[in-house]
Amino acid sequence: MTNTPIFVTRPSLPPLEEFLPYLEQIWDSGIVTNGGKMHQDLESALANHLRVPQVSLFGNGTIALMAALKVLGLTGEVITTPFSFVATTHALKWNGLEPVFADIDPVTLNLDPAKIEERITPRTSAILAVHCYGNPCDVDAIEAIAARHGLKVIYDAAHAFGVDCHCGSVLNHGDLSILSFHATKVFSTLEGGAIIAPNIKMKECIDRSKNFGIVSETEVESIGINGKMNEVQAAFGLLQLLRVDESIAARARVAARYDAALAGISGIDPVPSSGQLRANHAYYPVRVKPSFAMGRDGLYEALRKYGIFSRRYFFPLISSLPMYRDLPSASPSNLLTACAAAEEVLCLPIYPDLSEVDQDRIINAIGEASL
Ligand SMILES: *Cc1c(COP(=O)(O)O)cnc(C)c1O
Repeated sequence: MTNTPIFVTRPSLPPLEEFLPYLEQIWDSGIVTNGGKMHQDLESALANHLRVPQVSLFGNGTIALMAALKVLGLTGEVITTPFSFVATTHALKWNGLEPVFADIDPVTLNLDPAKIEERITPRTSAILAVHCYGNPCDVDAIEAIAARHGLKVIYDAAHAFGVDCHCGSVLNHGDLSILSFHATKVFSTLEGGAIIAPNIKMKECIDRSKNFGIVSETEVESIGINGKMNEVQAAFGLLQLLRVDESIAARARVAARYDAALAGISGIDPVPSSGQLRANHAYYPVRVKPSFAMGRDGLYEALRKYGIFSRRYFFPLISSLPMYRDLPSASPSNLLTACAAAEEVLCLPIYPDLSEVDQDRIINAIGEASL
């Protein structure tokens, strides 16, 4: 079975019989959504687990991000990274905000604080940064810039579940952080997401925004949206949470085997984990350098022939997509580091139950491609 496909990730599903009692509870209660018991339990379990003040659950990470931008009342321009999943920038446009791209740091591949400052204008209202691959942004520098210029800071922390930076959970930085619990992420509710808020007042405001802006039976205070997570998703999250530390440890073992094996292959440089006291190994990105003869796309195709489906995250750059490429800040000459990264990066398969046999198939295929 040497050609069984290996995908870049695979959702970890708990044994079905462990999920059934949760479903029975939901059926018995007759409450399937609108902030039932599972929802309340998951919000407090996550706040505990992540060591953050407040968690507001959402039906997915993109709606969470859109709601976060909305409740902060942003206007005009928002400085952001082109090196991310497309939802980051789409969420700005859906709120009528203008994305302004700034270049990234060549090592962390996160927004470069010096480049952020160059892009600030009188119309700038916020910085939307991404902890790419779970590597923390330079949060201190970003917060200093935001304070100097009176800007809000939102972190798209979709990759950063359980990541600690120098001072504890990275999710405690910025005005708000958002998480994604999509099936492909480290912690999943199949589809889902959350906003991490600093206090209960902000959480209440967010909670209303995801429930149509409703305050009471007769009052609607704002133009809210439907961003609610249902009870079945929340129950799935409660069950997943019991295993998430174990799955991060299993990911760490996979990453360590890649580190050891790839050290001997020239032209394949793992993107270093940097700035975290605790990593989550959500991704295993490498840079395929020009010295690797067949190049990044050659390696991507060669692996496909072996049934190994790596992914070129993040290629193409968001700033090169048709709806963004005419923005002044999207010019490749402003984004040289991001352009170079997009041409070199390849994410290798990593998930908690990637077997050593399958991982060896990937490593051997890369070794063969390097000859
Ligand atoms: C996954 C992801 C999102 C979107 O999350 P969904 O839950 O799929 O809506 C947003 N930003 C980044 C960086 C992501 O990786």
